[in-house]
Amino acid sequence: MKYISTRGDPAERDFSEILLEGLAPDGGLYLPTHYPKVDDATLTRWRGLGYADLAFEILSLFITDIAPAELRVLINRTYTRATYGSDAIVPVRQLPGGVSPLYIEALSNGPTLAFKDMAMQLLGNLFEYELARRGECLNILGATSGDTGSAAEYAMRGKQGVRVFMLSPQGRMSPFQQAQMFSLQDPNIHNIAVEGVFDDCQDIVKAVSNDLEFKRRYKIGTVNSINWARLLAQVVYYFAGYFQVTRANDERVSFAVPSGNFGNVCAGHVARCMGLPVAELVVATNENDVLDEFFRTGRYRVRASAETFETSSPSMDISKASNFERFVFDLLGRDGARVAELFGAGLARDGGFQLSTEEFNRIRGFGFVSGKSSHADRLATIRSTWADHQDMIDTHTADGLKVGREHQQPGVAMVVLETALPAKFAATIEEALGRPPLRPAELDGIEDLPKRFVVMPVDVDRVKAYVEQHCA
Ligand SMILES: *Cc1c(COP(=O)(O)O)cnc(C)c1O
Repeated sequence: MKYISTRGDPAERDFSEILLEGLAPDGGLYLPTHYPKVDDATLTRWRGLGYADLAFEILSLFITDIAPAELRVLINRTYTRATYGSDAIVPVRQLPGGVSPLYIEALSNGPTLAFKDMAMQLLGNLFEYELARRGECLNILGATSGDTGSAAEYAMRGKQGVRVFMLSPQGRMSPFQQAQMFSLQDPNIHNIAVEGVFDDCQDIVKAVSNDLEFKRRYKIGTVNSINWARLLAQVVYYFAGYFQVTRANDERVSFAVPSGNFGNVCAGHVARCMGLPVAELVVATNENDVLDEFFRTGRYRVRASAETFETSSPSMDISKASNFERFVFDLLGRDGARVAELFGAGLARDGGFQLSTEEFNRIRGFGFVSGKSSHADRLATIRSTWADHQDMIDTHTADGLKVGREHQQPGVAMVVLETALPAKFAATIEEALGRPPLRPAELDGIEDLPKRFVVMPVDVDRVKAYVEQHCA
């Protein structure tokens, strides 16, 4: 399998070439040259597989430049009962009632209690393998306000050849999220608490990455959500969820996906293109409704930072959806020149674009629908799910459940993806339920563990000096 850019660069690359990369050189995102098709007999065979074996079958269609035996070892090391707490890895549970069966697929039982572990844990093992093969090392520099940073740290801790420098706004993460990150004692993990807000952290990362000489000398890389391997790892749980809620391949299923940067639901799009019998992909947004607006109107309008709301489902607070270009490339018949116009010149000039009516009408054929949820909706959904089913869900999953319910069709099961556990978002759970969230027993007292971090002002040079000092 080879990979191409969404912006028309004709070069084809191998998986291991793009594994450690972000954007393609022409500014586009990487996608496989085609989606392998899965036929009925293959679906039937895959139905009986455990999660790691299923992951191997799917990933080996896209990763053809790592020896199968070695890929299998990396996957088996990733998707274990020890890491995810159950043999199913992504167990599905049913919520009774409604016009069709309604399920929640738990993607949040990994070490940081958010679905980002599903992909990031694999990325850690793939990075370690590839860096050893090249005889190289990598220093990951990132900014986080919560889920991404902790998932990256738990994926990379103790990995050979990798160091993580993670900036976070001091005092602005929840005590639980801060404890998750700062309690890590691994020498290759560096927590830097910046005396500023999240945007300051991001600006520092940008400034360091724009210093190309520094970036090259200190082998600075990232693990952001546009990484193709992350998206690919997420394709697996759409298949795994489908097999858990169906008996035969003629049944179709819809998925409701709490969405921010469009990585999660884009993996669902890939699964559907491969032939998974998906009826609809339901894109659920919060008050930051860039994507809902697009799927209703064909207009994509990037928000200014003043227009981006801080919400109680913070991992979906985005001003633009960084993986969205991948879907638009497929929607427009893989016309790289048109994508380059829309996302390059168009975005720079107009801050967005409007599809033609003919282009917009194609969306139906890709199964996408959308909806949005507000803080009040979130509270109501968390409350009713707890009262009616004694099931405690987090704020992001609540957005997915609210919008998923609006799109239920008779005879088609709806699977809502659970993207985090409530323990991560205690304040909103308290507000909704008047009690603290449930928490996995092994994380009791995590706030009291010794913390390992440094505090720094908003100062690019200080961060650079710290990186230099710890790469010596
Ligand atoms: C990252 C995240 C999302 C959004 O996922 P995307 O892939 O960016 O669309 C939703 N919920 C939670 C809890 C997250 O951490």
